[in-house]
Amino acid sequence: MSKQQWFRPEILGLPAYVPGKKGANTDVVKLSSNENPFPALPAVQAAVSAAVGDLNRYPDMFATGLIHDISWFHKWVDDGVVVGNGSTSLIEKILQAVVTPGGEVVLPWRSFEAYPIAVQAAGGAAVKVPLNADGSHNLPGLLSAVTERTRALLLCSPNNPTGVALKHTDLAAFLAKVPERVPVLLDEAYIDFVDMDDAVRSDELLREHPNLIVLRTFSKAYGLAGIRVGYGLGHPEMIAGLRAIGTPFGVNALAQIAASAALHSQEEVRARCGVIIQERKNLVAALAAHDIAVPASQANFVWLAGFGEALENACLDEGVTVRRFGQEGVRVSVGETEGSLRLLRAVASIL
Ligand SMILES: *Cc1c(COP(=O)(O)O)cnc(C)c1O
Repeated sequence: MSKQQWFRPEILGLPAYVPGKKGANTDVVKLSSNENPFPALPAVQAAVSAAVGDLNRYPDMFATGLIHDISWFHKWVDDGVVVGNGSTSLIEKILQAVVTPGGEVVLPWRSFEAYPIAVQAAGGAAVKVPLNADGSHNLPGLLSAVTERTRALLLCSPNNPTGVALKHTDLAAFLAKVPERVPVLLDEAYIDFVDMDDAVRSDELLREHPNLIVLRTFSKAYGLAGIRVGYGLGHPEMIAGLRAIGTPFGVNALAQIAASAALHSQEEVRARCGVIIQERKNLVAALAAHDIAVPASQANFVWLAGFGEALENACLDEGVTVRRFGQEGVRVSVGETEGSLRLLRAVASIL
């Protein structure tokens, strides 16, 4: 017999994950995963150290304290919050909960690589709607892709990897046209780096659309990628359904404590985001000086469309790891001046 028989056909069809190339240079600046360059916040370090001795105990199964802190932060209700082991795991769980066999999930493309994998693993079919040329979501296209077969719709703002964010006015008009039977997942992993007019106010939209689920993570702005925690906000009826299929003790004890401490460190978090936003502006200006125009990034990365292996290799030579998507483009995280300088040298070397 073939070992392949163990798996469902859609699992066998999943693309293998291709990790970024590691260069020969050992003094590497990692700009491939959109991590926060700052070390864990002081309050997080203190809280985690203090709790290490209690690791013999299971965590709070319902993450009561963290959920309460999140609902306080969003002026929402505890019953409208679900937490998970990173927001990627929540996306997987939500799709498992709503996708029927062969059911369609409409999503923008190119976007977060995890989306099509999660759709396929849930037994659904991804309907990919190409982005506009400027890297933004094609909202009319997404809307017209919704059919009777649609089980969910994904939005990513700011979009990974192009960095372009939706405008509140456009999103509000869009949501008003999506049938309420279709759950809409709005992935706001990079929302804290947005610095523009008419920015999305998802807390307001949640109140108007019971089919909307807003996803946030502690991995980016809060600098907790290593501890794994994210959350979803939605109508209590939606959230009750999602909690029902949550992994028992899915958010570990240290993650719960760290996320609460991070949420209560808003001043430092905003200051750090400000530094990263400024670094992004500097990098975009420096790239423009090389005649390289990037989409209007509102995230902690920029998208160099049309660049491929030549840039990836030049970056490795300069000691920078970046994320390349075939010959479509290269995504580079922003935050460290040294990393930006190396990227600019790499760009100059291949022009
Ligand atoms: C990083 C990222 C997430 C969150 O990842 P977790 O670490 O699993 O919380 C979610 N969506 C997008 C688009 C991301 O880039």
